[in-house]
Amino acid sequence: MRIFQKGFNFGQDGPGNRLVYHMQGCNMRCIWCSNPEGMSSHGGKEVSPEEILDECIRSRMMFFSGGGVTFTGGEATLWHNELLQTLRLLHEHGIHTAIETNGTDKELSALLEYVDYLIMDFKHYDTEALKKYTGVGNETVKRNFEQICQSARQLHIRIPLINGINTEDPEGFAEYFSKFNTSNTAFEFLAYHEYGKGKWEEEYKVVDGFISAETLDDFKQCFSKHGLRLIIT
Ligand code: SF4
Repeated sequence: MRIFQKGFNFGQDGPGNRLVYHMQGCNMRCIWCSNPEGMSSHGGKEVSPEEILDECIRSRMMFFSGGGVTFTGGEATLWHNELLQTLRLLHEHGIHTAIETNGTDKELSALLEYVDYLIMDFKHYDTEALKKYTGVGNETVKRNFEQICQSARQLHIRIPLINGINTEDPEGFAEYFSKFNTSNTAFEFLAYHEYGKGKWEEEYKVVDGFISAETLDDFKQCFSKHGLRLIIT
């Protein structure tokens, strides 16, 4: 498998201090993507599961405050088999594991036995709208979400909010989520930013994507009204 970036962060992609691997390649084409260099299936540096395990064992001292390792992207699950092998090795060595995924892996559940903390993006409840802005519909994302709710495992849902793309209808999101048992699910909103805009080689198509404080507040109030638990960041 290949990675295009790695580094430590605290509490951003799972609990505690974490070594975060950004894996090369993504099946989505979100027009707001802040890591466009990770979209292509080419590039990055080849690493084996054993090399990652070695690096993580050497980094153990850094995994303080309940930290560990997170695999993100691009889309980490495109490397399903290698990722599974890596997660299993880390798990065997008692290292805390997390993945951050766009939720489109049809075999996601096979990875979860070795994932201690799961972050799944949910960009739109409407499949046509999602397809329009990312190239991929949300059928698999929804199926994964619904299965995970039934399994009662911990789940962290991350919703990027982008003006003009998915902020019109907070009720649409909340009504969908509240049909399921979300007692182990926490929801996080990520307000649009443009940190990755300068990295786009193609035309950057988001126009006026910043959201107002009122919009963010509307989402928070709407989710709270439906009994959905929020992660406050
Ligand atoms: S799913 Fe994530 S990595 Fe892939 S294009 Fe969208 S924002 Fe970028």
